[in-house]
Amino acid sequence: MQSKLYISSPINAVLEGFHRDDITIDTLKEKGDFGIGTFNHLDGEMVALNGSFFQLDFDGNARPVDGGMKTPFAVMCHFKTKLTEQIPAPLTHEAFGEYLKHMLPSDNMLYAIHMTGKFRSVETRSVPKTENNLPLAEVTVHQKIRRFKDIDGHLVGFYTPSFVPSISVPGYHFHFIDNTFSAGGHMLNCEPDHLDIRLMILFSMELTLPKTLDYLTASFVRDAKTDLEKAER
Ligand SMILES: [Zn+2]
Repeated sequence: MQSKLYISSPINAVLEGFHRDDITIDTLKEKGDFGIGTFNHLDGEMVALNGSFFQLDFDGNARPVDGGMKTPFAVMCHFKTKLTEQIPAPLTHEAFGEYLKHMLPSDNMLYAIHMTGKFRSVETRSVPKTENNLPLAEVTVHQKIRRFKDIDGHLVGFYTPSFVPSISVPGYHFHFIDNTFSAGGHMLNCEPDHLDIRLMILFSMELTLPKTLDYLTASFVRDAKTDLEKAER
């Protein structure tokens, strides 16, 4: 299986407000069994785990996804564990952040990361369904936060080096889904109780570019790094 990261569209298109593309979930399935993203009109956060795709709606409730649904941004890979780590004892949010800083063998590679176990708390967000052309940093002002306590679940996500902020979210980007696949969202912060961590190093990426008129005629003037800091953290 190829160890390649697939990115369905550069993130700067979503940052600009282009919340529609023609990439379907069925297409994503060909690109991997593991991933995160969103849906057209930002209608929920997406998570794919072991080949099952879920939509985490504005209230943070999860439901299985129809293969015909479309996404303006998704990151996928065929997950294969290359390294394992463990968080054996509870960490505060700050300590978890510190742990992440030192977890990777090199900060300059791409990684797919699957964490599974128990969390003392998880805070997630989802954004409301949004009309086209509203920049992401303005959409996330209306995000809804959901808080989970003492919950078993998964963090599904990626690490991207800081030098590609126009293509994917730099640093860590995780979506949370609980063990029963009933709830979750874009992870804002969490306090792990104990976690098993599986890492996959990705040595290359495949990026498709949108063919929508919005994209073809855009001039990208927004500062991706600043917008992402506002929208994703
Ligand atoms: Zn996200």
